[in-house]
Amino acid sequence: MKITVAGTGYVGLVTGVCLASKGHQVTCLDVDEEKVKVMQKGKSPIYEPGLSELMQEYMGNLTFTTDYANAYKDAEVIFIGVGTPEKSDGSANLSYVYQVAKQIAQTAEKDCVVVLKSTVPIGTNDKIEQYIHDKQVHKCKIYVASNPEFLAQGTAVRDTLYASRIVIGTDEEYPAEVLVRVYEKFDAPKLKVGRRSAEMIKYASNDFLALKISYVNEIANLCETVGADVEEVTLGMGYDKRIGDYFLHAGIGYGGSCFPKDTKALSWLASFNDKEIRTVKAAIEVNDNQKLKLIKKAKKYYEDFLFLNVAVLGCTFKPGTDDLREAPSLINVPLLLEDGAHVRIWDPVGTENFKKQVPSEKIQYCQSIEDTIRGADICLIFTEWEEICNFDVNKYKQLMKHPIVLDGRNCYTLDQFEGTGVTYSSIGRKTVNDIEE
Ligand code: NAD
Repeated sequence: MKITVAGTGYVGLVTGVCLASKGHQVTCLDVDEEKVKVMQKGKSPIYEPGLSELMQEYMGNLTFTTDYANAYKDAEVIFIGVGTPEKSDGSANLSYVYQVAKQIAQTAEKDCVVVLKSTVPIGTNDKIEQYIHDKQVHKCKIYVASNPEFLAQGTAVRDTLYASRIVIGTDEEYPAEVLVRVYEKFDAPKLKVGRRSAEMIKYASNDFLALKISYVNEIANLCETVGADVEEVTLGMGYDKRIGDYFLHAGIGYGGSCFPKDTKALSWLASFNDKEIRTVKAAIEVNDNQKLKLIKKAKKYYEDFLFLNVAVLGCTFKPGTDDLREAPSLINVPLLLEDGAHVRIWDPVGTENFKKQVPSEKIQYCQSIEDTIRGADICLIFTEWEEICNFDVNKYKQLMKHPIVLDGRNCYTLDQFEGTGVTYSSIGRKTVNDIEE
Protein backbone atom coordinates (compact mmCIF):
# COMPACT_ATOMS: atom_id res chain seq x y z
CA MET A 1 0.00 0.00 0.00
CA LYS A 2 1.05 3.61 -0.49
CA ILE A 3 1.55 5.05 2.97
CA THR A 4 2.78 8.39 4.28
CA VAL A 5 4.01 8.83 7.84
CA ALA A 6 4.03 12.41 9.13
CA GLY A 7 6.74 12.93 11.75
CA THR A 8 9.92 10.87 11.85
CA GLY A 9 10.63 10.82 15.58
CA TYR A 10 10.83 7.74 17.78
CA VAL A 11 7.32 6.67 16.78
CA GLY A 12 7.02 7.88 13.19
CA LEU A 13 10.35 6.64 11.88
CA VAL A 14 10.06 3.24 13.56
CA THR A 15 6.50 2.89 12.22
CA GLY A 16 7.56 3.90 8.71
CA VAL A 17 10.54 1.56 8.61
CA CYS A 18 8.58 -1.39 10.02
CA LEU A 19 5.75 -0.84 7.52
CA ALA A 20 8.33 -0.71 4.71
CA SER A 21 9.80 -3.98 5.97
CA LYS A 22 6.38 -5.59 5.40
CA GLY A 23 6.30 -4.53 1.76
CA HIS A 24 4.47 -1.19 1.89
CA GLN A 25 5.72 1.82 -0.08
CA VAL A 26 6.32 4.34 2.66
CA THR A 27 7.01 8.06 2.45
CA CYS A 28 8.43 9.43 5.70
CA LEU A 29 7.75 13.14 6.01
CA ASP A 30 9.25 15.63 8.41
CA VAL A 31 9.59 19.40 8.68
CA ASP A 32 13.17 19.05 9.89
CA GLU A 33 15.35 19.34 6.77
CA GLU A 34 18.51 18.19 8.53
CA LYS A 35 16.83 15.03 9.75
CA VAL A 36 15.48 14.29 6.29
CA LYS A 37 18.94 14.71 4.72
CA VAL A 38 20.39 12.21 7.21
CA MET A 39 17.59 9.70 6.51
CA GLN A 40 17.96 10.07 2.74
CA LYS A 41 21.50 8.75 3.21
CA GLY A 42 20.05 5.65 4.87
CA LYS A 43 20.95 6.74 8.39
CA SER A 44 18.69 7.03 11.40
CA PRO A 45 18.82 10.42 13.15
CA ILE A 46 17.84 8.77 16.44
CA TYR A 47 19.46 5.97 18.39
CA GLU A 48 17.17 2.97 18.52
CA PRO A 49 18.59 -0.58 18.48
CA GLY A 50 18.09 -2.35 15.13
CA LEU A 51 16.50 0.65 13.41
CA SER A 52 19.38 1.68 11.14
CA GLU A 53 19.89 -1.90 9.99
CA LEU A 54 16.22 -2.40 9.12
CA MET A 55 16.13 0.99 7.43
CA GLN A 56 19.11 0.14 5.21
CA GLU A 57 17.64 -3.23 4.30
CA TYR A 58 14.36 -1.70 3.12
CA MET A 59 15.54 1.60 1.62
CA GLY A 60 13.95 0.45 -1.64
CA ASN A 61 10.50 0.82 -0.05
CA LEU A 62 11.28 4.10 1.71
CA THR A 63 11.26 7.74 0.63
CA PHE A 64 12.19 10.65 2.88
CA THR A 65 10.94 14.13 2.20
CA THR A 66 9.88 17.53 3.52
CA ASP A 67 7.45 18.01 0.63
CA TYR A 68 4.08 17.45 2.30
CA ALA A 69 1.98 18.26 -0.76
CA ASN A 70 3.51 15.39 -2.71
CA ALA A 71 3.51 13.11 0.29
CA TYR A 72 -0.21 13.55 0.98
CA LYS A 73 -1.49 13.96 -2.59
CA ASP A 74 -2.14 10.30 -3.43
CA ALA A 75 -1.43 8.38 -0.21
CA GLU A 76 -3.91 5.62 0.66
CA VAL A 77 -3.07 5.84 4.33
CA ILE A 78 -1.53 8.76 6.25
CA PHE A 79 -0.17 8.09 9.72
CA ILE A 80 0.23 11.09 12.00
CA GLY A 81 3.14 10.52 14.40
CA VAL A 82 4.08 14.07 15.36
CA GLY A 83 4.72 15.13 18.94
CA THR A 84 2.00 16.07 21.43
CA PRO A 85 4.14 17.68 24.13
CA GLU A 86 2.93 19.07 27.41
CA LYS A 87 1.63 22.63 27.64
CA SER A 88 2.35 24.71 30.73
CA ASP A 89 -1.07 23.83 32.21
CA GLY A 90 -0.39 20.09 31.76
CA SER A 91 -2.72 19.62 28.79
CA ALA A 92 -1.51 18.14 25.49
CA ASN A 93 -0.24 20.57 22.86
CA LEU A 94 -2.06 19.54 19.69
CA SER A 95 -0.69 22.27 17.43
CA TYR A 96 1.59 19.87 15.49
CA VAL A 97 -1.30 17.45 14.91
CA TYR A 98 -3.54 20.27 13.68
CA GLN A 99 -0.80 21.55 11.40
CA VAL A 100 -0.59 18.13 9.75
CA ALA A 101 -4.41 17.93 9.55
CA LYS A 102 -4.49 21.32 7.81
CA GLN A 103 -1.85 20.26 5.30
CA ILE A 104 -3.73 17.02 4.58
CA ALA A 105 -6.98 18.96 4.05
CA GLN A 106 -5.21 21.24 1.58
CA THR A 107 -3.41 18.60 -0.43
CA ALA A 108 -5.03 15.13 -0.27
CA GLU A 109 -6.58 14.34 -3.66
CA LYS A 110 -7.45 10.66 -3.24
CA ASP A 111 -9.75 8.82 -0.80
CA CYS A 112 -7.60 8.02 2.20
CA VAL A 113 -7.53 7.02 5.84
CA VAL A 114 -5.77 9.38 8.24
CA VAL A 115 -4.50 7.42 11.21
CA LEU A 116 -3.69 9.19 14.46
CA LYS A 117 -0.78 7.41 16.08
CA SER A 118 0.25 10.33 18.26
CA THR A 119 -1.11 10.16 21.80
CA VAL A 120 -4.06 12.54 21.87
CA PRO A 121 -6.78 13.41 24.41
CA ILE A 122 -10.07 11.60 24.16
CA GLY A 123 -12.26 13.21 21.50
CA THR A 124 -9.37 14.53 19.39
CA ASN A 125 -9.98 12.13 16.49
CA ASP A 126 -13.56 13.42 16.21
CA LYS A 127 -12.32 17.02 16.16
CA ILE A 128 -9.56 16.32 13.65
CA GLU A 129 -12.02 14.61 11.32
CA GLN A 130 -14.38 17.57 11.50
CA TYR A 131 -11.48 19.99 11.02
CA ILE A 132 -10.24 18.18 7.91
CA HIS A 133 -13.74 17.99 6.42
CA ASP A 134 -14.28 21.71 7.06
CA LYS A 135 -11.00 22.69 5.40
CA GLN A 136 -10.82 20.06 2.66
CA VAL A 137 -9.94 21.45 -0.78
CA HIS A 138 -10.28 18.41 -3.07
CA LYS A 139 -13.32 16.20 -3.48
CA CYS A 140 -12.27 12.94 -1.91
CA LYS A 141 -13.34 10.90 1.09
CA ILE A 142 -11.04 11.30 4.09
CA TYR A 143 -11.59 9.01 7.08
CA VAL A 144 -9.91 9.41 10.47
CA ALA A 145 -9.04 6.43 12.67
CA SER A 146 -7.16 6.08 15.93
CA ASN A 147 -4.25 3.65 16.19
CA PRO A 148 -2.35 4.49 19.37
CA GLU A 149 1.26 3.40 19.70
CA PHE A 150 2.56 1.27 22.58
CA LEU A 151 6.24 0.91 21.67
CA ALA A 152 8.88 1.58 24.29
CA GLN A 153 12.09 3.40 23.35
CA GLY A 154 15.06 1.06 23.43
CA THR A 155 12.93 -1.84 22.14
CA ALA A 156 10.85 0.11 19.64
CA VAL A 157 11.55 -2.01 16.54
CA ARG A 158 10.72 -5.28 18.27
CA ASP A 159 7.70 -3.71 19.98
CA THR A 160 6.38 -2.64 16.58
CA LEU A 161 7.09 -5.81 14.63
CA TYR A 162 5.72 -7.99 17.43
CA ALA A 163 3.31 -5.60 19.08
CA SER A 164 1.53 -6.59 22.29
CA ARG A 165 -1.64 -5.45 20.51
CA ILE A 166 -2.67 -3.33 17.56
CA VAL A 167 -5.59 -1.15 18.54
CA ILE A 168 -7.78 -0.10 15.64
CA GLY A 169 -10.06 2.66 16.79
CA THR A 170 -12.87 3.47 14.40
CA ASP A 171 -16.65 3.30 14.26
CA GLU A 172 -16.70 2.69 10.49
CA GLU A 173 -16.10 -0.41 8.37
CA TYR A 174 -13.85 1.02 5.66
CA PRO A 175 -11.02 2.46 7.81
CA ALA A 176 -11.07 -0.73 9.91
CA GLU A 177 -10.65 -2.85 6.75
CA VAL A 178 -7.82 -0.62 5.54
CA LEU A 179 -5.96 -0.84 8.84
CA VAL A 180 -6.36 -4.62 8.94
CA ARG A 181 -4.72 -4.70 5.50
CA VAL A 182 -1.92 -2.36 6.62
CA TYR A 183 -1.11 -4.67 9.53
CA GLU A 184 -1.85 -7.95 7.73
CA LYS A 185 1.73 -9.19 8.02
CA PHE A 186 2.24 -8.12 11.63
CA ASP A 187 2.16 -10.97 14.11
CA ALA A 188 0.04 -9.30 16.82
CA PRO A 189 -3.48 -9.38 18.22
CA LYS A 190 -5.67 -6.84 16.45
CA LEU A 191 -8.34 -5.18 18.49
CA LYS A 192 -11.14 -3.19 16.90
CA VAL A 193 -12.70 -0.66 19.25
CA GLY A 194 -14.45 2.69 19.10
CA ARG A 195 -12.31 5.76 18.43
CA ARG A 196 -12.71 7.28 21.88
CA SER A 197 -11.99 3.96 23.55
CA ALA A 198 -8.80 3.64 21.51
CA GLU A 199 -7.68 7.08 22.66
CA MET A 200 -8.49 6.15 26.25
CA ILE A 201 -6.71 2.76 26.05
CA LYS A 202 -3.46 4.61 25.40
CA TYR A 203 -3.76 7.00 28.35
CA ALA A 204 -5.18 4.37 30.69
CA SER A 205 -2.28 2.00 29.85
CA ASN A 206 0.50 4.56 30.22
CA ASP A 207 -0.91 6.05 33.39
CA PHE A 208 -1.37 2.60 34.91
CA LEU A 209 2.30 1.83 34.27
CA ALA A 210 3.33 5.16 35.80
CA LEU A 211 1.18 4.35 38.79
CA LYS A 212 2.79 0.94 39.13
CA ILE A 213 6.25 2.50 39.15
CA SER A 214 5.31 5.15 41.70
CA TYR A 215 3.68 2.52 43.90
CA VAL A 216 6.81 0.38 43.90
CA ASN A 217 8.95 3.42 44.59
CA GLU A 218 6.87 4.31 47.63
CA ILE A 219 7.12 0.72 48.85
CA ALA A 220 10.89 0.93 48.28
CA ASN A 221 11.18 4.10 50.32
CA LEU A 222 9.30 2.43 53.14
CA CYS A 223 11.50 -0.67 52.82
CA GLU A 224 14.55 1.48 53.52
CA THR A 225 12.97 2.79 56.70
CA VAL A 226 11.68 -0.51 58.06
CA GLY A 227 14.64 -2.66 57.02
CA ALA A 228 13.04 -4.69 54.23
CA ASP A 229 14.63 -5.24 50.80
CA VAL A 230 12.54 -4.04 47.87
CA GLU A 231 14.14 -6.49 45.44
CA GLU A 232 13.02 -9.39 47.64
CA VAL A 233 9.62 -7.79 48.11
CA THR A 234 8.96 -7.29 44.38
CA LEU A 235 10.26 -10.79 43.66
CA GLY A 236 7.62 -12.13 46.01
CA MET A 237 4.93 -9.87 44.60
CA GLY A 238 5.72 -10.72 40.98
CA TYR A 239 4.74 -14.37 41.37
CA ASP A 240 1.14 -13.24 41.64
CA LYS A 241 -0.09 -13.21 38.06
CA ARG A 242 -2.57 -10.47 38.90
CA ILE A 243 0.42 -8.24 39.70
CA GLY A 244 3.09 -9.59 37.36
CA ASP A 245 6.80 -8.93 37.68
CA TYR A 246 7.14 -6.51 34.78
CA PHE A 247 7.58 -2.84 35.63
CA LEU A 248 8.01 -3.68 39.26
CA HIS A 249 11.44 -2.16 39.68
CA ALA A 250 12.23 0.51 42.21
CA GLY A 251 14.33 3.47 41.13
CA ILE A 252 14.58 7.23 40.97
CA GLY A 253 11.38 7.61 39.03
CA TYR A 254 10.13 7.46 35.48
CA GLY A 255 11.04 9.94 32.77
CA GLY A 256 10.81 9.91 29.00
CA SER A 257 8.54 11.43 26.45
CA CYS A 258 5.36 9.66 27.54
CA PHE A 259 4.62 8.87 31.19
CA PRO A 260 5.26 12.39 32.55
CA LYS A 261 3.16 14.16 29.93
CA ASP A 262 0.47 11.49 29.62
CA THR A 263 -0.18 11.40 33.36
CA LYS A 264 -0.48 15.18 33.41
CA ALA A 265 -2.67 15.25 30.30
CA LEU A 266 -5.16 12.73 31.74
CA SER A 267 -5.19 14.59 35.03
CA TRP A 268 -5.88 17.82 33.16
CA LEU A 269 -8.60 16.19 31.06
CA ALA A 270 -10.30 14.84 34.19
CA SER A 271 -10.31 18.21 35.92
CA PHE A 272 -11.52 19.90 32.72
CA ASN A 273 -14.51 17.55 32.93
CA ASP A 274 -15.02 18.31 36.64
CA LYS A 275 -13.56 14.97 37.64
CA GLU A 276 -10.51 14.11 39.64
CA ILE A 277 -8.25 11.17 38.92
CA ARG A 278 -6.57 10.99 42.30
CA THR A 279 -4.47 7.87 41.76
CA VAL A 280 -2.75 9.43 38.75
CA LYS A 281 -2.21 12.71 40.58
CA ALA A 282 -0.55 10.78 43.39
CA ALA A 283 1.68 8.93 40.90
CA ILE A 284 2.89 12.28 39.52
CA GLU A 285 3.61 13.70 42.96
CA VAL A 286 5.49 10.59 44.08
CA ASN A 287 7.56 10.63 40.90
CA ASP A 288 8.51 14.29 41.26
CA ASN A 289 9.87 13.59 44.75
CA GLN A 290 11.55 10.36 43.75
CA LYS A 291 13.64 12.07 41.09
CA LEU A 292 15.47 13.97 43.84
CA LYS A 293 16.13 10.93 45.95
CA LEU A 294 19.87 10.59 45.23
CA ILE A 295 20.64 14.21 46.03
CA LYS A 296 18.73 13.83 49.29
CA LYS A 297 20.70 10.67 50.07
CA ALA A 298 23.97 12.43 49.26
CA LYS A 299 23.26 15.03 51.96
CA LYS A 300 23.96 12.33 54.51
CA TYR A 301 27.58 12.27 53.34
CA TYR A 302 28.17 15.90 52.36
CA GLU A 303 26.44 19.02 53.63
CA ASP A 304 26.70 20.57 50.18
CA PHE A 305 28.48 19.87 46.90
CA LEU A 306 30.78 22.91 46.85
CA PHE A 307 34.06 21.95 45.06
CA LEU A 308 33.15 18.26 45.21
CA ASN A 309 33.95 16.03 42.26
CA VAL A 310 30.71 14.29 41.36
CA ALA A 311 30.69 11.38 38.92
CA VAL A 312 27.45 10.91 37.03
CA LEU A 313 26.91 7.57 35.31
CA GLY A 314 24.13 7.59 32.72
CA CYS A 315 22.07 10.61 31.75
CA THR A 316 19.33 9.25 29.47
CA PHE A 317 15.93 8.48 30.99
CA LYS A 318 16.54 4.78 30.42
CA PRO A 319 19.07 2.56 28.65
CA GLY A 320 18.82 1.83 24.93
CA THR A 321 17.94 5.38 23.91
CA ASP A 322 19.62 8.76 23.44
CA ASP A 323 16.42 10.49 24.56
CA LEU A 324 16.70 12.77 27.56
CA ARG A 325 13.14 13.97 27.83
CA GLU A 326 12.20 14.25 31.52
CA ALA A 327 15.31 12.28 32.54
CA PRO A 328 16.11 12.61 36.27
CA SER A 329 19.66 13.69 35.31
CA LEU A 330 18.23 16.89 33.81
CA ILE A 331 17.01 18.03 37.21
CA ASN A 332 19.85 16.70 39.29
CA VAL A 333 22.91 17.83 37.36
CA PRO A 334 21.88 21.55 37.31
CA LEU A 335 21.26 21.30 41.08
CA LEU A 336 24.75 19.90 41.58
CA LEU A 337 26.26 22.65 39.44
CA GLU A 338 24.30 25.33 41.28
CA ASP A 339 25.73 23.98 44.50
CA GLY A 340 29.29 24.37 43.17
CA ALA A 341 30.10 20.78 42.22
CA HIS A 342 32.49 19.72 39.44
CA VAL A 343 30.52 17.20 37.43
CA ARG A 344 31.87 14.46 35.22
CA ILE A 345 29.44 12.49 33.07
CA TRP A 346 29.59 9.23 31.18
CA ASP A 347 26.80 7.92 28.97
CA PRO A 348 27.26 5.75 25.86
CA VAL A 349 24.87 7.71 23.64
CA GLY A 350 23.23 10.55 25.56
CA THR A 351 25.99 13.10 26.08
CA GLU A 352 25.54 15.05 22.82
CA ASN A 353 21.89 15.70 23.69
CA PHE A 354 22.84 16.50 27.28
CA LYS A 355 25.37 19.12 26.16
CA LYS A 356 22.60 20.91 24.26
CA GLN A 357 20.17 20.80 27.15
CA VAL A 358 22.54 21.63 30.00
CA PRO A 359 25.30 23.74 28.48
CA SER A 360 27.94 24.28 31.14
CA GLU A 361 31.70 24.61 31.18
CA LYS A 362 31.67 22.99 34.57
CA ILE A 363 30.68 19.64 33.10
CA GLN A 364 33.35 17.30 31.82
CA TYR A 365 32.28 14.49 29.51
CA CYS A 366 34.28 11.28 29.78
CA GLN A 367 34.84 8.39 27.39
CA SER A 368 34.90 5.70 30.05
CA ILE A 369 33.39 4.88 33.42
CA GLU A 370 36.92 4.69 34.86
CA ASP A 371 37.75 8.27 33.80
CA THR A 372 34.45 9.49 35.20
CA ILE A 373 34.90 8.08 38.68
CA ARG A 374 38.66 8.73 39.00
CA GLY A 375 39.22 11.02 42.01
CA ALA A 376 35.46 11.49 42.58
CA ASP A 377 34.01 12.26 46.00
CA ILE A 378 30.70 10.63 45.15
CA CYS A 379 29.16 8.76 42.23
CA LEU A 380 25.50 9.00 41.22
CA ILE A 381 23.96 6.43 38.85
CA PHE A 382 20.95 7.64 36.88
CA THR A 383 20.64 5.02 34.10
CA GLU A 384 21.06 1.25 34.21
CA TRP A 385 23.24 0.91 31.10
CA GLU A 386 24.68 -2.58 30.63
CA GLU A 387 28.22 -1.20 30.82
CA ILE A 388 27.47 0.18 34.29
CA CYS A 389 25.77 -3.03 35.47
CA ASN A 390 28.75 -5.10 34.26
CA PHE A 391 31.38 -2.75 35.72
CA ASP A 392 33.84 -4.28 38.21
CA VAL A 393 32.69 -2.70 41.48
CA ASN A 394 36.15 -2.99 43.05
CA LYS A 395 37.21 -0.18 40.73
CA TYR A 396 35.01 2.28 42.64
CA LYS A 397 37.31 1.71 45.63
CA GLN A 398 40.48 1.78 43.55
CA LEU A 399 39.69 4.92 41.57
CA MET A 400 37.45 7.18 43.65
CA LYS A 401 38.81 9.58 46.26
CA HIS A 402 35.85 8.78 48.51
CA PRO A 403 34.16 5.57 47.33
CA ILE A 404 30.51 6.45 47.85
CA VAL A 405 28.15 5.12 45.17
CA LEU A 406 24.50 6.14 45.11
CA ASP A 407 22.67 3.91 42.68
CA GLY A 408 19.30 5.18 41.47
CA ARG A 409 18.60 2.09 39.39
CA ASN A 410 19.71 -0.84 41.57
CA CYS A 411 22.31 -1.91 38.99
CA TYR A 412 24.14 -4.20 41.41
CA THR A 413 23.39 -6.78 44.07
CA LEU A 414 24.28 -5.87 47.63
CA ASP A 415 26.59 -8.90 47.82
CA GLN A 416 28.81 -7.41 45.13
CA PHE A 417 29.78 -4.63 47.53
CA GLU A 418 30.32 -6.70 50.68
CA GLY A 419 33.93 -6.34 51.76
CA THR A 420 34.83 -3.87 49.00
CA GLY A 421 35.09 -0.81 51.23
CA VAL A 422 32.70 1.01 48.92
CA THR A 423 29.72 2.72 50.54
CA TYR A 424 26.85 1.57 48.35
CA SER A 425 23.37 2.98 48.73
CA SER A 426 20.58 2.03 46.33
CA ILE A 427 16.79 2.29 46.29
CA GLY A 428 14.73 0.35 48.81
CA ARG A 429 17.62 -1.67 50.18
CA LYS A 430 20.03 -1.41 53.09
CA THR A 431 23.23 0.58 52.58
CA VAL A 432 26.37 -1.54 52.38
CA ASN A 433 29.53 -0.35 54.20
CA ASP A 434 27.71 2.73 55.42
CA ILE A 435 29.73 5.50 57.00
CA GLU A 436 28.80 5.86 60.65
CA GLU A 437 27.64 9.34 61.67
P1 NAD B 1 9.31 13.18 18.39
O1 NAD B 1 9.33 14.51 19.01
O2 NAD B 1 10.49 12.26 18.57
O3 NAD B 1 9.04 13.31 16.82
C1 NAD B 1 8.09 14.14 16.26
C2 NAD B 1 8.55 14.49 14.85
O4 NAD B 1 7.49 15.17 14.17
C3 NAD B 1 9.75 15.43 14.80
O5 NAD B 1 10.76 14.87 14.01
C4 NAD B 1 9.19 16.71 14.18
O6 NAD B 1 10.14 17.42 13.41
C5 NAD B 1 8.07 16.16 13.33
N1 NAD B 1 7.04 17.11 12.91
C6 NAD B 1 6.51 18.17 13.57
N2 NAD B 1 5.59 18.80 12.82
C7 NAD B 1 5.50 18.13 11.65
C8 NAD B 1 4.73 18.28 10.47
N3 NAD B 1 3.84 19.26 10.32
N4 NAD B 1 4.92 17.40 9.47
C9 NAD B 1 5.82 16.40 9.57
N5 NAD B 1 6.58 16.21 10.67
C10 NAD B 1 6.44 17.06 11.69
O7 NAD B 1 7.99 12.46 18.95
P2 NAD B 1 7.79 10.91 19.37
O8 NAD B 1 8.51 10.60 20.62
O9 NAD B 1 8.00 10.06 18.17
O10 NAD B 1 6.23 10.93 19.74
C11 NAD B 1 5.24 11.16 18.75
C12 NAD B 1 3.89 10.83 19.37
O11 NAD B 1 3.81 9.45 19.71
C13 NAD B 1 3.58 11.59 20.65
O12 NAD B 1 2.20 11.89 20.70
C14 NAD B 1 3.92 10.59 21.74
O13 NAD B 1 3.20 10.82 22.93
C15 NAD B 1 3.51 9.30 21.10
N6 NAD B 1 4.23 8.12 21.59
C16 NAD B 1 5.57 8.19 21.81
C17 NAD B 1 6.26 7.06 22.25
C18 NAD B 1 7.74 7.13 22.54
O14 NAD B 1 8.25 6.19 23.17
N7 NAD B 1 8.45 8.15 22.12
C19 NAD B 1 5.56 5.85 22.46
C20 NAD B 1 4.20 5.81 22.18
C21 NAD B 1 3.54 6.95 21.76
